[in-house]
Amino acid sequence: MMEMDKLVALCKRRGYLFQSSEIYGGLNGFWDYGPLGVELKRNVKEAWWRDMVTGHNELITSPGAPTTHQMVGLDCSIIMHPQVWKCSGHYDLFHDFMVDCRVSKKRYRHDQVRGRWVEAKGRKIFVSSQTGGEEGLKETESRALKFFNLRAKQADELSWCSDLVSLTTVADFTEVLGPDANETGTLTAPREFNLMFKTFVGALSGEEGAAFLRPETAQGIFVNFKNVCDSTRVKLPFGIAQVGKSFRNEITPRNFTFRSREFEQMEIEFFCKPSESPDWYKYWRDRRYAWYLSLGLSSSRLQLRDHHADELSHYSCGTADIEYAFPFLPPGEFGELEGIAHRGDFDLRSHMEGKLARKDGELAVELGEDGKPRHKGSGKDLRYFDDQARERFVPHVIEPSAGADRGTLAFLCEAYHEDVVEGDTRVVLKLHPRLAPVKAAILPLVNKDGMPEVAQKLYAELKGELAVQYDDGGAIGRRYRRQDEIGTPFCITVDGQTKEDSTVTLRDRDSLEQVRVPLAGVLDILRGKLKPSC
Ligand code: ATP
Repeated sequence: MMEMDKLVALCKRRGYLFQSSEIYGGLNGFWDYGPLGVELKRNVKEAWWRDMVTGHNELITSPGAPTTHQMVGLDCSIIMHPQVWKCSGHYDLFHDFMVDCRVSKKRYRHDQVRGRWVEAKGRKIFVSSQTGGEEGLKETESRALKFFNLRAKQADELSWCSDLVSLTTVADFTEVLGPDANETGTLTAPREFNLMFKTFVGALSGEEGAAFLRPETAQGIFVNFKNVCDSTRVKLPFGIAQVGKSFRNEITPRNFTFRSREFEQMEIEFFCKPSESPDWYKYWRDRRYAWYLSLGLSSSRLQLRDHHADELSHYSCGTADIEYAFPFLPPGEFGELEGIAHRGDFDLRSHMEGKLARKDGELAVELGEDGKPRHKGSGKDLRYFDDQARERFVPHVIEPSAGADRGTLAFLCEAYHEDVVEGDTRVVLKLHPRLAPVKAAILPLVNKDGMPEVAQKLYAELKGELAVQYDDGGAIGRRYRRQDEIGTPFCITVDGQTKEDSTVTLRDRDSLEQVRVPLAGVLDILRGKLKPSC
């Protein structure tokens, strides 16, 4: 598979992605989308919005759906009342564990450090690594050799006592060789680290003015549930969708945009009757998986993984992740693109009654030492009124929660190809036409004989509707390669024959096939190729 470095280099060279604040040395965990990147990411978000929200036909049952349903959108503020995060559980529970190295001063996420137990010269140590798979095995071996002062040919003096396992399986760090350490025992015990970014609202700088940048867009939907019910004609089952920025102070941002500190989410909260929720959970899980396939991810690199019971949040009756085999991960490992969670009535009830916690198997308001709710809810009635059954109840929720940046990165990874054409290697981004930043390039074969005039006229006609580029610079072969590298699916060339019979050539980026088509029919042909299929 493609090496990640090549894609990262192409993204910079062609203006897909830049490091944030690069001229000042960058800022870890933050990224800027360049002129092509902004178009690609917008197309990902627009495809999602169109397929899940506006293009959704509420009058017809979608395949696999238990009944018809409605979808509406929202755009909430990033900073919300601090009580939102207390009732959602983020204030108390949204943390990772970190370990610090006293010598290298580096910080690691406890669950991301792995290693192997090894014995040599009468001593047993745990050699850590931040990678897995073959690479992790190689790294731990060379670090163990160095630690025990052995040469490569003495590798059989190392007696391995375990496979690569997580540092979370190690109780005592005395004999742990940290990922950047030369001696054992330099790692601190794991400590909790809340991932929410704190800020201060207005002139109040004390705790009174403290607020948080949202770590997910979902809570904005829950706290507006009543507003949406009261201001629209939605009836259960229905979904509310939102796309927007979220912020998490990740301990170790890495793998390009995969784990960033500022990123965008595309989330749906789907409200339904409790009795119908298992069917809707299945529906969304399958529908969201199909969406990624429809936009070009290959089924061999995409998997739908159901969480084991011990991985589920305390309120969840089922969660599945859609995962992609990113090229920066060891073979056989997958990274999360989207989680689909059955959240029961946890969120609406928490915002109504106060933060809930599971006690003796049941969800109940969590009480503090004084016997009062640990975090007070809004006290507002967030139940839904079913006017046919004449009853009020708290709906159940299915939450498909996707990352726009992770999706965009997966589409880029899948698209990158190096083909050999007529003895030359061509780099091509085989992006789905709906996602490609430029849909077609209009190219006059030469800059004379009336060709530029015809090409410019066609360009003017197409650009009102589609993102097209006009390019008359350089040999035609070079212009094709340039468009291949940025992922333009079609090139339309005006040549000598155009004047005679009003036809142009339409070149397909992937098959390299060139067909003659009528000039007047170009727009319709492109429209057909850009139609959604999901
Ligand atoms: P992870 O386990 O990888 O940290 P998560 O399970 O915490 O992810 P969720 O809280 O379910 O993630 O968020 C929903 C989606 O938001 C994820 O599937 C992912 O696509 C995206 N996302 C979450 N954290 C990040 C991040 N730090 N950078 C980029 N995208 C993110």
